[in-house]
Amino acid sequence: MVSAGVAAIAWWAGTLSKSGTAAAWTIGLLILHGAGWEGGAVLAAFFVCSNLVSRLGPRTDYPGVDAKGNRRDAWQVYANGGPAAVAAVMAADLDLKLWLVTAGLATAAADTWATSMGAYSRVPPRLLWSGKQVAPGTSGGVTAAGCGGAVIGGALVAGAGAVASGSTLLLPVGTLIGFLGMLVDSAMGGVLQGRFYCPQCGEPSEWRVHRCGTPTEWKAGWAWLSNDGVNFAATALSCCAAWVLWWWLD
Ligand SMILES: [Zn+2]
Repeated sequence: MVSAGVAAIAWWAGTLSKSGTAAAWTIGLLILHGAGWEGGAVLAAFFVCSNLVSRLGPRTDYPGVDAKGNRRDAWQVYANGGPAAVAAVMAADLDLKLWLVTAGLATAAADTWATSMGAYSRVPPRLLWSGKQVAPGTSGGVTAAGCGGAVIGGALVAGAGAVASGSTLLLPVGTLIGFLGMLVDSAMGGVLQGRFYCPQCGEPSEWRVHRCGTPTEWKAGWAWLSNDGVNFAATALSCCAAWVLWWWLD
């Protein structure tokens, strides 16, 4: 089972940049070390289903929107898997470790699936809090297709967690945490995340440096809070929610 986990890491790493590959190995080995083959199985489910959905989904580089797209560098990997890896090493009880790993990765999967499935939406996304229509790929915009995708992505990881831990409760709890984590991620992405503007291209951007190489101008939000920071906060909060629920329910 450990070798299956290592094979899954290698397969996932094959789709990443060099720095992303090193980060994926770090996350993978910490989870295997901390939470054994059971944690490795949850991680494998996350790798496989995130990888599949990002290949199945249509291309998500929208003209005029400089979204996260398919960037797979180290920061993105740490933002998605870091809290789960820390929880796998730090938590005292194997059952608790599996709840925390499952919750963190269910949120990361829900977010990935929401992005990929949301790209199929025929209606433009709307902002979660105001209902205002926004361009596809805008942080904070949600669609029904994306929400459906989030439930599927979260449920696949939560299902793996339930089987690995033998705790059937983890299926509904992990799915719910994954879905809510995706909504928190969208809301934080739309409200708090730094928004910038490229004076060269006249386009909005989520980055301090636009993809054309020109430094962008700050427009709104917290300039220091990037998309990776938002993802990290959402997966870390999901681990905290799972800790409270484990203590309360299990
Ligand atoms: Zn530009």
